[in-house]
Amino acid sequence: MKARIKSLKRSIKEREQSPFTYEFKDEEVHRCLNCDHEFTGNYCPYCSQSADTKRITWRSVPKGFLELWGFNNARSVPGTLWQLTYRPGYLILDYLRGHRVACYPPIKLLVVVALITGLMHLYVIPENEDNVKIEVEADKIAPGEESPWEQDFADKVDAVDDWCDRNEGWAMLAICSLLILPTWLLYRHSRRIPKHTVPEGFYIQVLMCPLLLIISILSDIDDIFVLLIPIYYYYSYRQLFGYGIWGTFWRLFLCFIIATIGFLLLIAAIYVAYRIYLQFT
Ligand SMILES: [Zn+2]
Repeated sequence: MKARIKSLKRSIKEREQSPFTYEFKDEEVHRCLNCDHEFTGNYCPYCSQSADTKRITWRSVPKGFLELWGFNNARSVPGTLWQLTYRPGYLILDYLRGHRVACYPPIKLLVVVALITGLMHLYVIPENEDNVKIEVEADKIAPGEESPWEQDFADKVDAVDDWCDRNEGWAMLAICSLLILPTWLLYRHSRRIPKHTVPEGFYIQVLMCPLLLIISILSDIDDIFVLLIPIYYYYSYRQLFGYGIWGTFWRLFLCFIIATIGFLLLIAAIYVAYRIYLQFT
């Protein structure tokens, strides 16, 4: 029994690390059913029709419907989201190592997912009532209590907040980008992906965003789901960089602290710059 569990665990791990197998059937010659060209390999080099095109059977019908939403291959949007759920770190690793066709293009994916989650926010998920209450109370502060420029600054913050609500995908990417430098600092000596560069770090965050957007939808339903964010980061970084439980944890913890400090410094710098700007105009 123990041995069986062990072998099951091993096969799950292997599937997580490399779910794709390619068969090279170069000796087999196919005749393309579309353009009549004779070729070897999986696809016709002239018209790109698949070599295993067969007569339509009952099995083709459900397959055709699955194609409608792209569920038939791992490179589609749902396929990539599924990969980002069960093997996020390995998928990112694959992508950085050059397995580019193993997933949907990352930036495109972010835009598509942001579009869907944006629509869900508008039509499906009712706004969390607690948040609405807080916003209403915040608006109640009498204008006299704040100096005009403070009011002006608060208005600008509100405008940025509104923009973030309307452009969730880019806003999420902006927040995650705060982690690019700390991740580079703390994880670049990883043996699994040694000396990753800052642009590679950018793509790591781009690929983290789609699932984070989905988590943000869940956290609209219940705040408890916010906890999934650090868990997802931990899970992904462990697969991606290959450090142990503790090694991944303390580095990630430091990453979040550095990113938070960076964010606060950025806000402070903008605030100070705005005050100085006001004094000279
Ligand atoms: Zn052909």
